[in-house]
Formats: sequence, structure tokens, C-alpha cells
Amino acid sequence: MEKADFLQLCQDNADSNSNTLSAKILPAVRQYLSNNPGKKLPVIWLETSDSGDNNIAFMNTTYPYLHQVFTDMINLLYSNTFMAAQGSDALQLLKHAVEGYFGPFTLIVEGAIPLKDGGIYNIIARTENGPITALEAVHRLGAAAQYVVAAGTCASFGGASAAAPNTTGSVGVSQVLNRQVINVSGCPVNPDWLVGTLAHLLMFGVPELDDLNRPSLFYGVTVHRHCQRRSYFDNKEFAENLGDIECMFSLGCSGPRTGADCPYRQWINHVSWPVKANTPCIGCTNQDFPDGSSPFFTPLPQKFKTGKTGQQPSAGKGEKV
Ligand code: SF4
Repeated sequence: MEKADFLQLCQDNADSNSNTLSAKILPAVRQYLSNNPGKKLPVIWLETSDSGDNNIAFMNTTYPYLHQVFTDMINLLYSNTFMAAQGSDALQLLKHAVEGYFGPFTLIVEGAIPLKDGGIYNIIARTENGPITALEAVHRLGAAAQYVVAAGTCASFGGASAAAPNTTGSVGVSQVLNRQVINVSGCPVNPDWLVGTLAHLLMFGVPELDDLNRPSLFYGVTVHRHCQRRSYFDNKEFAENLGDIECMFSLGCSGPRTGADCPYRQWINHVSWPVKANTPCIGCTNQDFPDGSSPFFTPLPQKFKTGKTGQQPSAGKGEKV
């Protein structure tokens, strides 16, 4: 498969139960692997400060399914959710990765990194030499990795873990590493965004990124652009209550300032997404989420009237409204 075909595939509508991605990505990956034996993407998945929602969302991948990702795309070397190893055996895997035992690998970080008090608010392992903080682990693994992927908004920008008053001093991964970090934001991340990014890394390397270092093929247009209620917005017909069929800009929808393809990619086996389920987009892929989106049900102009922190109520730089 050519790169241009892959990009088009990722941007195609995936809500028609057509198995579009599994029908085309997996054969392409298998073909790639048959031409490049032993080249499955080696992955170290480190969970830090988040709710665990991103690995749950990842498990909901359907095009391709989770077992197909594991058997045909990636070689998951470490994940405290998915691996059987525990204790010192598990820690040994991380040491091997840092020492280059596995060769080039992709580091996925799920969660923010607490900085306060030396990072003591997130401990990934305890050893006879003392605790290993997430901060130290990300520093060491990040320096050794070929690619670093931040999965979810906490890892990308701090997210809910860094929400005011941010008592742990949490930040996104890019703020602790002096290197490129590919941000695959979302609270949680859509499995297509993460699996599509991993497939791109495997076959073509780093995808085109937007100004927030997110893959443009998933975040390049706003939610507002393809929203099924857009005609109501254009006709200035706004909902008064949740459950009304009109545009929910009046109820705090952040779609006009949020880059993501939710309206057509959708969630949970491509079945639904917030606006389809009668609740406004809360801008979970944004750099300033959740503080910049709150109060969730206050219209955008009023959210920003007080001049609080965050982006302005418009599309992000480089995004198409
Ligand atoms: S403001 Fe929200 S509900 Fe209205 S069209 Fe835009 S994305 Fe859809």
C-alpha cells in the first residue's frame, strides 16, 4: 500500500460497518511484514498518571480488532495492563529496553507526568535502591526510544491530571523530554487514532503533524466542520435543552474549537459520538482540556468572557472549520 492510499484510508468514513480499515490495513501490514520479516513495531507502553481510560479505549479497537493489532502489527514488550510479567521480571523488561536489548522501540506513554516534589506522586516501581518515578522512567525510556507517542490528553498536554489546582504539578510528556513527541490526544483516545498512528509508524515513519504535534489525518479539521447538526448552526437554530435536535452551541458545545474527526469516525465500534448522543462536544482533544472547556454547558463566548486561560473560541491553528 502506498502512503497516499493509507492516508486516504484513515480519513475515509469508517461508520458504515464496511470493515474498511481491517479489510485494507491488515493485508497491507501483513504484506509489509512479509517483505520485512521480524519488523513488527516493538512497543513499550508505560502508564503514568491517568485513569486507565486510554488502554480501555484501545481494547475497543474493531478495525482492526485488538488481537489482530497484537499478532499482526505490534510486538508489545511491556504493558502493566496487558503483560503477564510482574515485579522484578517486569522491571527487567524496561531495563532491557533502555540498554538496547530489544533494538529500536516505540514508547507509548499513557498519562501525565507529575513533577512536584521530584515526581514522587507517580511511582512505577519500587526497588531496593528506592522508588522509580514516572518522571525518571520517561526520561530514561524516552532517551532510548525511536519514537515517543503520547496516548490520550493527559500524556499529550497534562489533561485532567493537570487540571486546576494541579496539586501534583503534572505536565504532558513533551514537557519533560527534549525530543519529538507524537501527541495522540483525546479523553480517551479514539482507538482508530492510536492504531492508525502505530500503523503509520510501522510502514511509513512519522505522520504529518499539526502545530500541536498531533497526526493531521485525524485532527486536521474541527468537530464542527462535519457535525451532523451543522445545518442548524448555519441557520442559527439552537437547542434550549439537552435532547433538543438543534445545534448545541447554546449549551456549551466546543466543536468549533476542537480538532478531531469524531462526527464521522465515531466511537465504540463506530456507533456513536457525543453530539449524536445529545451531549455537547467538551473539547477533549484540546491542549487546554478540561480547564479551557469548563463550565461544560456554558456557551463558548461566555466561557472565554472572563479571559481565563486557554485557547480562543475558534479553530486551532492549521485546522479547518
Ligand atoms: S456547535 Fe457543536 S452541535 Fe453545533 S454544529 Fe458545531 S459541533 Fe455540532
